[in-house]
Amino acid sequence: MYSPIIYAGLGAAAGLGLAAGGCAYAAYWPGSRIFGRALIAPRRPGELALTFDDGPNPAFTPRLLDVLADHDVRATFFMLGSHAEAEPELVRRIVAAGHLIGNHSWSHANLAVASPKRLRDELVWTNETLEQIAGVPVRFFRPPFGARRPGVMGAARRMGLVPVLWNAMTSDWSDPSGDAIAKRLMHSIDRLERWGWAANIVLHDGSDVDQSAFRGPSVAAAGQLVARYKDTHRFVTLDAWG
Ligand SMILES: [Zn+2]
Repeated sequence: MYSPIIYAGLGAAAGLGLAAGGCAYAAYWPGSRIFGRALIAPRRPGELALTFDDGPNPAFTPRLLDVLADHDVRATFFMLGSHAEAEPELVRRIVAAGHLIGNHSWSHANLAVASPKRLRDELVWTNETLEQIAGVPVRFFRPPFGARRPGVMGAARRMGLVPVLWNAMTSDWSDPSGDAIAKRLMHSIDRLERWGWAANIVLHDGSDVDQSAFRGPSVAAAGQLVARYKDTHRFVTLDAWG
């Protein structure tokens, strides 16, 4: 039931493309429908979905949860199955706080070049682990690196998962300044709103290579975004859109 959102969303995402990139993600930016359908964002200006990738991270996810709780905001966490398995209590805390959890693969493999068996294992293991730990169904999947090919998106959909991309991202994983991260994301969010789109915002609370990666700037940026928009915009989890 998300087709209208998808096709419309791809146009806006393609337009933003390289402006948000400058990193490995840019090579995989959703510029073409041939890679398959994915949820990006609807035409609902004023709605913001904060999404956090690569966790859970025992060093920084708890701080992020405190920030979100202080402002009574819910977000979506795309977790690695391997990290979730190592931090089950943290997964349960995230769900208990009202946040949505999603599948970000088991090991952050580049699924665009994975074998069909590896692709399926990465998705199945992660879904089963998350559902077993959290006791809730997992419906949303964000491919690592945004890597897409028809087989990746199709396999996810056959498992009942909704593939998700984004339309607001900056290189928060390598930027030492929370102020700079927040400023660039605000620029993207405000531009999307002028164009009539909701914002699907990516930040990273974890890392595919370091279970306890330093994510202070990303957490600080999330706090700034929430403070800036909470009185004028509506923060939603992705199940509000698909
Ligand atoms: Zn990732």
